[in-house]
Amino acid sequence: MNTPPQGTYEVTVVKYGTRVARRNEVFLNYWLYSEDNDEIRMDYFVWLIRSSSRTILVDTGYNLAVGARRARTTLLGPLEAIDALGTPTCSIDTVIITHGHYDHIGNLRGLPATQVVMSASEYDFWTSSMARRTQFAHATEAEELQHLTEVFASGRMTFFSGSLQLAPGIRLVEVGGHTPGQTMVLVDTSEGTTLLTSDAVHYYEEFERDRPFSTVTDVVGMYSAFDVIHRMIDKGDVQHLIVGHDPEVLNRFRRVDHPTVPAARVGCVRTVGEIA
Ligand SMILES: [Zn+2]
Repeated sequence: MNTPPQGTYEVTVVKYGTRVARRNEVFLNYWLYSEDNDEIRMDYFVWLIRSSSRTILVDTGYNLAVGARRARTTLLGPLEAIDALGTPTCSIDTVIITHGHYDHIGNLRGLPATQVVMSASEYDFWTSSMARRTQFAHATEAEELQHLTEVFASGRMTFFSGSLQLAPGIRLVEVGGHTPGQTMVLVDTSEGTTLLTSDAVHYYEEFERDRPFSTVTDVVGMYSAFDVIHRMIDKGDVQHLIVGHDPEVLNRFRRVDHPTVPAARVGCVRTVGEIA
């Protein structure tokens, strides 16, 4: 495969929801750190990857009715927000599903013609009987997991294991930990390579202070995912780290000027002619 051209993609982080939690709800065995149990905000994002020829959505956010039942504050439906930012959802050619939790697959039905890519182990787990056990099922919606099987049956699903070069400049890396097939996305932009960790890392603090998240199927796998990311950064393979649920994300990147949709961007879309 040819070396991916730099500067091909623009990554837009779209915040569509939020809630306030306590620190012992988000960090695993928080008592170990002997710190106050303060409030901590959790934001909900989807991530849009665009070039002059591709429009790829990373995850679909939670379903609005599900978000309301779970007492999340929705700013705007994720697909509406993307549309408001100038990307009609009919132009999305591929959806990457990083994992099967409700806040990542809840609007897949709103993209009925789109190709879907996810790791085989993630699909296998969430369509198995083990997924119905309480410790796993609480972060999912049965109807949404059922829909994954419908996507598969329709022929729109592509599975991968380990890693996948989805397109020049876009690579998926399966790390597990948070869920059995939790996937991260590496994107080459005009400002360097951006790593979308999704929920391999929810908060920068999780990664920087080595504190696993409370919802986890494999703690060793979660720590190992942190190690994978450290190695990527140390080797210079990653210049920008975008984590899954931290409000700080929108402070670390260039804000998009929009009256109703909070968003931030890395990179810029270039025309095909500009890519040497
Ligand atoms: Zn999540």
